[in-house]
Amino acid sequence: MNSPQNIFSRQPQGSRSPSAEDPVARAASTREILHVDLDAFFASVEQMRDPSLKGKPVIVGGDPDGRGVVAAASYEARKFGIHSAMPTARAKRLCPHAVFVRGSHALYSEISSRFFEILETYTPLVEAMSLDEGYLDLTGCARLHGGPAEKTAVRIRHYIEQELGICASIGMGTNKLIAKIASGLAKPNGFLRVPPGEERNFLKPQLIGRIPGIGPKGGEQLNRLGIKTIGQLTMLPLEELEKNFGEWGRRLYFRSRGECDSPVQAREESAKSISRETTLEEDSLDRPYLIAMLSYLTEKAAAQLREEGLYARTVTLKLRFSDFKTITRSRTFKESASEDHILFEAISKLFAIAHMDRIPVRLVGVSLTGLTTERQTQLDLFQPTAPERWNRLYKGIDRLRSKYGFDTVLRANSKLARSTADLAVGRRRAKNRQERA
Ligand SMILES: [Mg+2]
Repeated sequence: MNSPQNIFSRQPQGSRSPSAEDPVARAASTREILHVDLDAFFASVEQMRDPSLKGKPVIVGGDPDGRGVVAAASYEARKFGIHSAMPTARAKRLCPHAVFVRGSHALYSEISSRFFEILETYTPLVEAMSLDEGYLDLTGCARLHGGPAEKTAVRIRHYIEQELGICASIGMGTNKLIAKIASGLAKPNGFLRVPPGEERNFLKPQLIGRIPGIGPKGGEQLNRLGIKTIGQLTMLPLEELEKNFGEWGRRLYFRSRGECDSPVQAREESAKSISRETTLEEDSLDRPYLIAMLSYLTEKAAAQLREEGLYARTVTLKLRFSDFKTITRSRTFKESASEDHILFEAISKLFAIAHMDRIPVRLVGVSLTGLTTERQTQLDLFQPTAPERWNRLYKGIDRLRSKYGFDTVLRANSKLARSTADLAVGRRRAKNRQERA
């Protein structure tokens, strides 16, 4: 089981990748993402529980004479061509001396929780993908961990083996896609790091089946086009992929280039959202007024976001019309944000598209999701001080508000909402007085 640690250090041959040596590209891709995956999880747990099974082909998945399927196979069993989802009867024919065990899901989930507890001692930014695999975002943790992320990855592997008695493989790269493909190649019991800028060289010779989301069927379709490796896939223009495969083709185009900006989302945060919505005094078609209300709600939501020290990846606009039909429209950013002006710009653009029909609006709402505790950012070399400047500005605003009340400082847009709302409240009070009179 103790294969040496693979370190991806292959230099590109002939034409060197320009991005590998380009400092701008390097600085823009400094995320450090790990994909940690336990090896042959169920089967490894069985071998750990009963050491006499170590080194033997072990198949988890019930009665070999019944009609079940293989849930997991140890690496010793995989040598016989056995893989998960294969009928157990077939597995038995391929390897008659294999040890078949029913498996204990209570034990697997207990070990799974311990696995994630271990990962969470390194960073709160852990995203669980299944019982035995997860992503970690170690960006900017070097000082905390007393060394670069690749050293931390090696420590994590040792710690898991020591604590759980089973092996993990880890892939490391600048995004989730690269980390995931790297861990697959590192298996079993290995570590593989793809340095920033090397993504495309790393992917080029790999078979297309390595890209998550390409199943046997999709692979077959691509093979028919003569495409076997990821490098060959990058030769197809975006239009052709879209024409043949639609949205999936579009995703393939970017994945084959190693591009993926999906953030690592910790469990609680990914489910959480911060929203503000309000039912209007009267159904309205008044665009400036509706935009003003949205601006005010965005400011309210963003203030809470910053108070909780969070950043949002996705903003969602909600509109309910006078006929009670409700729509939502979302936009996901490349970089997470907590600034009013960025969040509101997205909301107002969504509104411009969503509010095309001239139906009066009854309710407006804003919600922020994809929340993270750290800003998922790509360094902007041309404006290195911009984020700090905005941070200072919004910190100042938040301080003033906590002292003198939320409405002390408002965007020009929001002020209109307040004064219109005040007017509306005034009108309603006047009307109530009249009715009482
Ligand atoms: Mg696994």
